[in-house]
Amino acid sequence: MAMVGVIGAGVMGKDIALTCAARGYDVVLCDSEESVLASASGQMRRLIKKYRMMSTDLAEWNADEILGRITCSAGLAQLAGVDWIVENIVENPEAKRELYLRLRDVCGEEARIAVNTSCIPITRIASLLPHPHQVIGMHFMNPVPLIGGIEVIRGYHTSDETVKAAESFATSLNKQPIVVNDMPGFVSNRLSHLFMNEAAFLVQDGVAEPEQVDAVFKLGYGHRMGPLETADLIGLDTVVNSLAVLYDEFQETKFRCCPLLKKMVDAGLLGRKSGQGFYSYTTQAAPAPGSDAGRSRVGAI
Ligand code: NAD
Repeated sequence: MAMVGVIGAGVMGKDIALTCAARGYDVVLCDSEESVLASASGQMRRLIKKYRMMSTDLAEWNADEILGRITCSAGLAQLAGVDWIVENIVENPEAKRELYLRLRDVCGEEARIAVNTSCIPITRIASLLPHPHQVIGMHFMNPVPLIGGIEVIRGYHTSDETVKAAESFATSLNKQPIVVNDMPGFVSNRLSHLFMNEAAFLVQDGVAEPEQVDAVFKLGYGHRMGPLETADLIGLDTVVNSLAVLYDEFQETKFRCCPLLKKMVDAGLLGRKSGQGFYSYTTQAAPAPGSDAGRSRVGAI
């Protein structure tokens, strides 16, 4: 079985490490923060419990077996020799650039690199590496174990072999790949960030409360989650960073970030991962996405 290196042990990295390990891959999970790695194992155990309850497909997940396949590492050296690297560090172009320049010395020619960015062009990231044809975007969706698709983004240099390998990798994780071309935000986030940003403006302008905005989407349009619930799930810091990338890349005012979102991030209200965003979460990981359990509305933001 191939070996997978997952870089970044945040919201996405932990979910991706679990998903890969549950499908039999050995996983090296890296993060630059020792404190993140120190708590990762306990958090992943709680996530497994949650996902087992949320999906009958995952009811057989065995925590000891899955966690037994995941090794945590603070450095990148353990990534030498892995078949796939899935990169999930913060959505900050400069941080990603620095990491990829360091990766030049770590991963061999055989490693394929899946960039799990929300908005940053894959072509630009790939061009930092000596083997850009081996680099592809794999935009995993949150929460990874419960979502059936992966947006696969072909960069300018991505080879057909790498596209095929990414499709096989996605399929091996029981996910359907949807292959699209490279452009900032791809399909998913170029659309979804407009909804989330404008939803924040509606709250800021006093047009509606968050639950009313979300109710219009859920009851009116039949969406499983409203835009503000989705923003809380993603992490408001990641949403703000992604909007900054879209604004810079397209030079389009439609992607200007709502000041309320920035204010919430400045105040530490990051959504589910901090316990408070547009809604308050009594336990960080407990309520299912889209469920109201354990969730309440915060007072004036
Ligand atoms: P996060 O903030 O929860 O986690 C990022 C992790 O990266 C942190 O633990 C941080 O310590 C670590 N990190 C930062 N710099 C590092 C470095 N140089 N080396 C190793 N680790 C480093 O972020 P997230 O929500 O998991 O998002 C990660 C990536 O996935 C971003 O590019 C984001 O846009 C993308 N993404 C996020 C979602 C989502 O719903 N949150 C969905 C799809 C894609």
